[in-house]
Amino acid sequence: MDDKTRRIWAGLVSYANGTATPAEIRATVVDCAGWIAATMPFDVIDPTLVEDDLSKQAEAYRPDIEILLRFLCSQPKSEERNSLKAQALEFLREHGEHIQGRVFRETYYAEEYLRNLNYTPDELEKFKKQVKRIFDQAQYEKYHRGQPTIVGEDTLPLGLLLPSRGYRDFADPICDFLSSEYERYLNREVNRKDKKAPPLVPIFVCPSCKKLVMPKRIGQRNYCLQCSDRARTEKYRQHASPDEGRDYAWLYRLLHHESGARKVRLSQPKVKQRLAEIKFRQKNSQRCQGLLQDLRL
Ligand SMILES: [Zn+2]
Repeated sequence: MDDKTRRIWAGLVSYANGTATPAEIRATVVDCAGWIAATMPFDVIDPTLVEDDLSKQAEAYRPDIEILLRFLCSQPKSEERNSLKAQALEFLREHGEHIQGRVFRETYYAEEYLRNLNYTPDELEKFKKQVKRIFDQAQYEKYHRGQPTIVGEDTLPLGLLLPSRGYRDFADPICDFLSSEYERYLNREVNRKDKKAPPLVPIFVCPSCKKLVMPKRIGQRNYCLQCSDRARTEKYRQHASPDEGRDYAWLYRLLHHESGARKVRLSQPKVKQRLAEIKFRQKNSQRCQGLLQDLRL
């Protein structure tokens, strides 16, 4: 999975979970649309689109996008898949019809606009090169002191026109991305029987908090980060030896003795004996091991 695809999935997940900022939402939609559609003025994601308008659209479509994502990552034959199917398909069909097969747009590039869209400097550089190449190779009228001059190599028959896609609303590029990913999944090469099939979508629903999750490592499906941290703490608490708290407190006090007094204590056979016991008894206790390390033992 390339960086851009990963970024889009992560962006869609935080959008659907309701945690994305307006700037992040805009960046995700722009990523879905691709740079040609995204750099065009007066297109769906119009550069002049005011923040307010974008937020309104984003809020209006959020529940449907969430349903669509949950439907796509639902388990086969599950209750969830059954109950979300009708609504998800209707939404996908409706916006699928908005996506025009082909439109032609005239090359447009405004760097300050693109810089606000979360693109990395590398990508901006790439766009700049792409646009410059088109301006070099196309033939077009350039105005110099009010006088038109024909410039360019004319090696591009379509001139400044670029084939792109037309979108009607905010949800269209997202539905386009999800449909294309689905299409890519259907068209994947299935030639090695022993190789496990890749997941249809990289995202999943956390079984504990029910939020959508984009894992750090694709194929990893367990809990979201917060829930797996909580589960680990709980497991640790259940497995901790009953003396763990007392041993920890004892080590803590020892560590915070004034260094002279600590040296004296550490030379006592009784203390030495207990330290050896703790070292063994609390080998699974990270915090006790941490203190032992601080004591340099
Ligand atoms: Zn969770």
